[in-house]
Amino acid sequence: MSQEHGFAPNQAIEGLGFLGVLNDCLACGVVCVDEQGHITCLSPEAASLLRMHPQRLVGKPHELLPAPLASLIHDALVADKPFRDHDLELRLDDMETMVLRVNVLRLGTPPQPRLTLAILNDLTSARRLEFDISRLDRLANIGALSASMAHEIKNALVAVKTFTELTVAQSPGADLGDVAQRELKRIESIVGQMLKFAGPSRPKLAPVRIHEVLDHSLRLAQHQMSQKAIRLRRDYQAAADWVNGDDYQLEQAFVNLILNAVEAMGVGGTLTLHTCSLAPEELPGALREGGPPPQLRVTISDTGVGIPAENLSRLFEPFFTTKREGTGLGLAITRRIFEEHHAAISVESEVNRGASFRVFFTPLQRP
Ligand code: ADP
Ligand code: MG
Repeated sequence: MSQEHGFAPNQAIEGLGFLGVLNDCLACGVVCVDEQGHITCLSPEAASLLRMHPQRLVGKPHELLPAPLASLIHDALVADKPFRDHDLELRLDDMETMVLRVNVLRLGTPPQPRLTLAILNDLTSARRLEFDISRLDRLANIGALSASMAHEIKNALVAVKTFTELTVAQSPGADLGDVAQRELKRIESIVGQMLKFAGPSRPKLAPVRIHEVLDHSLRLAQHQMSQKAIRLRRDYQAAADWVNGDDYQLEQAFVNLILNAVEAMGVGGTLTLHTCSLAPEELPGALREGGPPPQLRVTISDTGVGIPAENLSRLFEPFFTTKREGTGLGLAITRRIFEEHHAAISVESEVNRGASFRVFFTPLQRP
């Protein structure tokens, strides 16, 4: 490893994409606008940040810039004053929004021609890093707390369970006994999943075929699927499906996604398992940054109730559930398993139409 760069590579910061963040924050773009509001020049960094071609902008009205930026420049022109550290959110496409920190300067004193300068800094990855760190922090706290709690609860449960079973056996048909037993089962499953989540078991990586893992996961969920007469569309298109993975953990993750899909659907819904190989340019922007691009996409979609937009960002948080009997741990565990496999997961949904979970893997070149 080279120590010549100012930033010595270090595993902890590399994992968070720290160097990428520094890069993004240090490179700034510049847009110049004259007193008539026309763009006089645009640095290559600004063009690439705004995903716009300089030729389409130079000499044109500044209103052609993305609306929030155009409006800030307009205000600076009209009020004849600079603006410092304005954070603007720009929507690039369906998958991506960008956070830009903008400083607007007014240069030149009359009678010299005046120039308005907008200096753009990309804060997107810095914001993402901030968010990831706070999520890691919360997860670490939850992890430590739940590990100790789960052990205590599990021990206490043994006594309560034995007592309840004995009582129910002595007076069968007692409604309350059934309820107590059902609730105890639920607690047991929560505690079991908490222990799984808290006690990190490192994946044992070996070459596995994703198509085989998916088929096995389907078999594990078969009972729930046939109970609801769920139709299966199994559409495996990926040419290369070998990945370095822990088949048991990957199965657990896919079963979570499949069971969620089944739970979201009524009788007769359709579950689709689709795989395909992707060229790097087909990947969503966030996945394109750094490292070899993931190229194998697994999509698990359903025709269920879908996910309201306000829930999308909370879906993977531990204990987030909308189900009466849910634990809210399934997706937290699932994401963690995929993260340990360097796979990314994303979700798309339309309420009442269904949901689609996509997982992006880097396939092995040669198994
Ligand atoms: P649980 O299934 O115990 O509720 P999960 O972590 O597996 O916990 O899921 C969290 C929440 O995400 C669910 O309660 C549900 O609201 C939502 N969800 C997950 N998958 C789907 C899906 N395929 N369709 C609709 N909602 C879903
Ligand atoms: Mg679940």
